[in-house]
Amino acid sequence: MEKYYANVASKWTTTAYDAETDPSVWPNCQKFPLYTNVSQEDWEDWRWQMKHSLRTKDELEALGVNLVPEERKALDNMEGLLKMSITPYWAVRMDFNDPSDPLRIQSIPTPAELETHAENEADPLGEDHDMAVPGLVHRYPDRVLFLCSTVCSMYCRFCTRNRVVAKPAPFADENNFQQAIDYITNHTEIRDVLISGGDSLLLSDQRIDQILTAIRAIPHVEFVRIGSRVPSAMPYRVTPGLIAVFNKHSPVWLSVHFDHIREMSPQARKALTMLADAGIPLGNQTVLMRHINDNVAKMKTLTHELLKNRVRPYYIYQCDLSEGLYHFRTPVARGIEIIENLRGWTSGYAVPSFVVDAPGGGGKIVLQPQMLLDYKPGEVTLRNFEGMITKYYEPAELVTEEDELRMRTILGKHHPLDDELLTERSDGKAHSDHV
Ligand code: SF4
Repeated sequence: MEKYYANVASKWTTTAYDAETDPSVWPNCQKFPLYTNVSQEDWEDWRWQMKHSLRTKDELEALGVNLVPEERKALDNMEGLLKMSITPYWAVRMDFNDPSDPLRIQSIPTPAELETHAENEADPLGEDHDMAVPGLVHRYPDRVLFLCSTVCSMYCRFCTRNRVVAKPAPFADENNFQQAIDYITNHTEIRDVLISGGDSLLLSDQRIDQILTAIRAIPHVEFVRIGSRVPSAMPYRVTPGLIAVFNKHSPVWLSVHFDHIREMSPQARKALTMLADAGIPLGNQTVLMRHINDNVAKMKTLTHELLKNRVRPYYIYQCDLSEGLYHFRTPVARGIEIIENLRGWTSGYAVPSFVVDAPGGGGKIVLQPQMLLDYKPGEVTLRNFEGMITKYYEPAELVTEEDELRMRTILGKHHPLDDELLTERSDGKAHSDHV
């Protein structure tokens, strides 16, 4: 597929959208022969969208998507591949003639997903190993991940849980659900429950209400987070009824998932506005992916757009070592480069944390550019985002051995640029006015 992506870095950096022309807005969607007769009520009904999701090559071609040979080859034989399922809402927004469209790369399979690499794993984050009871992952001291569904509005080609999504849930039955609730009840150290899947917002309002009721009845659970792709992939799922359920069990935080500004549509903005107006705190998670968002301009455009919609950019994830994702992975340095070009250069709220989820199940590891250049107790040498070197004088008499060790450990691995800057500084040639 690489040949199709030749100009992708310069294209798709920004996008224009408005309700007058966006193809996913009713009645604009009626210009597609497949949807000529669709009513507004159906088009804006998330259940209709789910029922009419595109799942085959023939359906994509009937819509008018001009598939390239690689996409066609994957769709002709899906054995071993994650199921394809694309909502009409998402599908009509794709560029039918350009396979480098980020919407297309994220949703249409290619044979690259069948490539094998030695480091690939079915479960690189060791979630199955850390499952305390079926569906409940207890890795961190005071919080758990509760997998309540294996269904999603769209099956993202980069899904780190491609071993479980779109398959019969090994953990979502009533008996397992009660076991998970009992486990949380018996572990008083758990104060934070993250509900994910799959996408739990594909469950009915009534079921979500039941789940939240059971969790919020546990006295030591302080708040609940829900991870969901629906504001991006199927914003019609955000309804007044769903928001009423969230508010009934407040505080409920929502982690949304946008990877590229192309995902921001009039409906997506409306869904985010409804959530923000209702007081639901919103954070965004993004997966760093080759050809989609692996440069500063694209990431900055996305984070600015999120802020405009009252969503705090929360995490950029290094793409995991799950099977079938090699073609999405980037060098780790790309994520650090992005943070280095955001921090200081734009609003702090627009700068997410860049994390590598440790292979083998070690949890999230935050990586960032090295700004500590030198240290001795009482005197901390730092560089700012522009390369200016400065000194901070701390109260030396309070510094413990442990404090010193902590600072020296950070210095153990520092940015090569820092060596240059330090040399310049000791030569007294550059930056001396800032010291
Ligand atoms: S919505 Fe989330 S869980 Fe579902 S396929 Fe996409 S990334 Fe995976």
